[in-house]
Amino acid sequence: VPPYVAALQPYVPGKPIEEVEREYGVSNVAKLASNENALGPSPRAVAAAREACAKVHLYPDGSAFALRGALARKLGVTPEELAVGNGSNELLELVVRTFVAEGEETLTAEGSFVVYRLASQAHGRRCVEAPMRERRYDLRALAERLSRRTRVVFLANPDNPNGTYFSEAELRAFLEAVPRDVLVVLDEAYVEFVDAKDFPDALALRRRFPQLAVSRTFSKIYGLAGLRLGYLVASPEVVAFLDRVRAPFNTSLPAQAAGVAALEDEEHLARSRALVASERPFLSAGLRALGATVWPSQTNFVLADFPGRPGGALFEALLREGVVVRPMGGYGMPTGQRITLGLRAENEKLLGALKKLLRA
Ligand code: PMP
Repeated sequence: VPPYVAALQPYVPGKPIEEVEREYGVSNVAKLASNENALGPSPRAVAAAREACAKVHLYPDGSAFALRGALARKLGVTPEELAVGNGSNELLELVVRTFVAEGEETLTAEGSFVVYRLASQAHGRRCVEAPMRERRYDLRALAERLSRRTRVVFLANPDNPNGTYFSEAELRAFLEAVPRDVLVVLDEAYVEFVDAKDFPDALALRRRFPQLAVSRTFSKIYGLAGLRLGYLVASPEVVAFLDRVRAPFNTSLPAQAAGVAALEDEEHLARSRALVASERPFLSAGLRALGATVWPSQTNFVLADFPGRPGGALFEALLREGVVVRPMGGYGMPTGQRITLGLRAENEKLLGALKKLLRA
C-alpha cells in the first residue's frame, strides 16, 4: 500500500434513514443531511429508468451518445465538449487522474467541498488550500496561491457546505490571473437553485477562457443522486484526454435513460426551484428566530451556527427527534450544522425539535 493511501481517511456519508430508524427508534424521519431534492426524482426520469431496466443484460452506450446529445442541445455546446460520469464526483477525480502528474498540485479553498482534497490525496497529489473570507471563496487569495506546480483549480459555486457564491466580476478577474495551461474546474452542483443576479454565466465565459471547465450533477435538482450521474463541460481537447483515462461504461444504462428524461421534465425542475424559493427564506428566518447565525445561501441547504451548542451533541439530539442534519465539526465549525431544505412539514419538524432542544 503506497504511504499516501495508508494515510487516507474515508469519506463519511450521512446515515441512511433505515439505520437512523433502527438505532434511534424513530419513524417518519426527516433526512435533511445530504442536499437531496425533497420532492424526489422527476417521475418521467423514474419511468425512463424503469423502462431501461428491461435492457440491463446489455452494456450501456459507453459514449453516452443520447445523453450527451440531449445535454449539448440544452446547454448550447457540442457533444465533443461533454464528459459524463458516475456522479460528478467521478469526473472531479478523473480530472486529477488525467491532468495532475507526480509533484504537481491542485488548488482550492479551505473549508470548501472536501472531495477536491480527497480526490487529490487519493492519487498522492497535494491539494493546496487558500483561505476563505467570511465563509466565501476569496478568489484573490486563491490567485496568490497559484504556483508553477498548480495544474487544476477546483472552485465550488455556489459552495458546499457554505452555500455562498462568488460573482461574475470576481471570477473574471481570477481567470485573467490564471495561466492558460491550468485547468479551472467550476463545480456548479447547485447552480439550478441560484437566483443572484451577479452570478457568473460560466458557459458563456468558456468562450473567452477555454481552460474553464464546468461540472454539474443530476444528484441535486434532478433528484437522481442514487443513480449517480454528472457531467463536465470542457474543451474538446480536455474531454478527449478524460476519455482515454475514463473507465469503460462508467455510467449505467438506467442512469443515462433517466438523465435524458429528466432534462425534458421542465415541470419538475420548476417545482423544485419553487420549493427552494419558498423554503430557503422560511427556514433561514425560523433558524435566526431561534438565535442561530445563518449564512446567506444560493443552494438547497443552509449553513447555521448555534453558539454554545456543540455540533455532535445537537446532531445526536436531533436524531432522537427523527431529524438528520450534518454537523460541521469536520469543517472547522464546532457548533455548525448544514441543513438541507425539506418540504414545509419537514422544515417545521426541524424547527419544532430545535425549539424544544435549545430551550432545554
Ligand atoms: N460538488 C458539490 C459541491 C457537491 O456538494 C456534491 C454533492 N455532495 C457533488 C459535487 C457531488 O455530486 P455527485 O457526485 O452526486 O454528482
